[in-house]
Amino acid sequence: MKRGDYEAMIADNTPTGFPNLVLGWTDEECGIDWDSYMEWGHNVMNQVAFGDDIGAFQTFDEWKCQERGENPNDLGFSHEKCDLCGALPGDRYAATALPIDPATNNDYCTLTICGECCLFIANGDVPDYVEAN
Ligand SMILES: [Zn+2]
Repeated sequence: MKRGDYEAMIADNTPTGFPNLVLGWTDEECGIDWDSYMEWGHNVMNQVAFGDDIGAFQTFDEWKCQERGENPNDLGFSHEKCDLCGALPGDRYAATALPIDPATNNDYCTLTICGECCLFIANGDVPDYVEAN
């Protein structure tokens, strides 16, 4: 397979109208949203003993960073094929396809992709099986 064929395959498997690929899923897709933050805050308050001070809360941004964890894009092993290249079951990572105009259109598509497609999205590297030209 040549590089152009690989790039065309990725483009063909990218959802129509959502040509911008980025690594990771949105916070909302991972349940990292305002409602979850409020629920966390209520749980913290419920654990305070009578008469004790609540103490300082994490800000929403601090809480989001904590919830994202070490490597939130690593989804682990999956029996599903890669959404972009069709690679056989293996380790999968989170990716998101954004619309042409993400500044005005908040819609998106979540993707589950292989490590090689991660490298392609991140820096344009193609898998070893793709010829230079
Ligand atoms: Zn792939």
